[in-house]
Amino acid sequence: MEHFIQAVYFVTVILFILGLKRMSSPLTARSGITWAGVAMGLAVVVTMLWPDLHNIGLILTAIFIGAVLAWISGRRVAMTDMPQMVAIYNGMGGGAAAAIAAVELLRGELDGTGLIALSVAGGLIGAVAFSGSMIAFAKLQGLISGRPITFPAQQPFNLVVLVVALVFGAALLVVEDSTALVLAFFLVALAFGVLMTLPIGGADMPVVISLYNALTGMAVGFEGFALGNAAMIVAGTVVGAAGTLLTQLMAKAMNRSLGNVLFGAFGKEAAAGGGEIHGSLKPIEVEDAAIMLRYAGRVIIVPGYGMAVAQAQHKIREMMDLLEAKGVEVKFAIHPVAGRMPGHMNVLLAEAGVPYDHLFDLEEINAEFANTDVALVIGANDVVNPVARSDPSSPIYGMPILNVDQARNVLVIKRGHGAGFAGIENELFYKDNSRMLYGDAQSMVNELVQHLKQL
Ligand code: NDP
Repeated sequence: MEHFIQAVYFVTVILFILGLKRMSSPLTARSGITWAGVAMGLAVVVTMLWPDLHNIGLILTAIFIGAVLAWISGRRVAMTDMPQMVAIYNGMGGGAAAAIAAVELLRGELDGTGLIALSVAGGLIGAVAFSGSMIAFAKLQGLISGRPITFPAQQPFNLVVLVVALVFGAALLVVEDSTALVLAFFLVALAFGVLMTLPIGGADMPVVISLYNALTGMAVGFEGFALGNAAMIVAGTVVGAAGTLLTQLMAKAMNRSLGNVLFGAFGKEAAAGGGEIHGSLKPIEVEDAAIMLRYAGRVIIVPGYGMAVAQAQHKIREMMDLLEAKGVEVKFAIHPVAGRMPGHMNVLLAEAGVPYDHLFDLEEINAEFANTDVALVIGANDVVNPVARSDPSSPIYGMPILNVDQARNVLVIKRGHGAGFAGIENELFYKDNSRMLYGDAQSMVNELVQHLKQL
């Protein structure tokens, strides 16, 4: 039986890797998720076949409760709440790894210091990823303030807590059968996850979530070594590596180092930054905006968080079809942190059937704005704010932005004077070549579509 189980683990491992590979392109990403899901299902089922498995009733009950909760929450979650969802699911992975470590350390049956050390490492990392992810969830869900929560001598204090966790972990290698020590170790590790995440501002949460994703993977990998479970080792390593790459990409997209994200308390002064802005906000009638679009040679659409809020992607697709039928070239410029999660805009536009070859990354499209007749900004704000290039006092200074201001004409759809995530004024809206179309993104694009049909 054991050989059979190991053989199935081998198949699941291959499916995990192929699934992840498929996720690297929007064309195959959905099937990649399915492949990885099937692999996980297989791994769970085959694990139930271990000959010396106890408490099967309890295990099945836990699986049933978890599956029902995940099914319901997965179906109900709004696209705009996806980052919180990812945070909580990530955290659960870390928590599961920590729970395995706790059970193994309490049972005291791990063979040798090496395996205990691996279990302790996985337990520490998993516990930090769990409690840190829960704080990230609470911040994004608005249960606690999204701003950095700081106190005097915070970093030295956090360092002391980490050192205490490490000392307890080291003690577990030599002290046997100490329930109190295992408990103390996990309590301090959990506290460190909370303390590490509190001073990080909401704007940095995507980076932090992908970091915890990487940590969860590592924790699972370590526990896989401790238990001799190949599926856990490979799945954990794959998640750890992917999470690390994503963390680096996200930090780069925000032009921040990981150290600055973790220890910079970014966003505390967010509303205070920013120099003086000249010019005025100039509204435009929707009829005039439609004419401008209809007679343009090239239009670049820049979607942002407001498109997700308004669920405007289907109407945007309709508008794109109309414009293209009239001979206008339409492209989409996708900023890596537009919206509220990595790939947010890509997912929504793909859902509406916008062809992938119409979507362009920041580096690919930025040079094209200068030769563009109309840049149409739909619910985006921070990712097109020129102060990121020009004002060192701005909290978003240094973040690469889409050079929308260089287009001949800029149309901006937003509901009113609401700021973006960083909470600052946007110089773009006051420029001479900018016109404001005030309204909900979906109804505004719908009105544009109606007018375009008559032109
Ligand atoms: P922003 O959050 O900067 O701006 C969104 C704009 O959309 C607001 O100014 C708002 O103005 C407008 N808006 C809101 N609802 C609607 C609606 N129904 N119709 C029309 N407009 C609407 O979005 P961006 O995408 O430009 O930038 C993303 C920001 O989020 C960045 O600062 C990024 O760092 C941060 N972030 C990104 C994450 C990611 O992984 N992508 C995760 C967490 C944060 P008004 O109220 O006037 O309508």
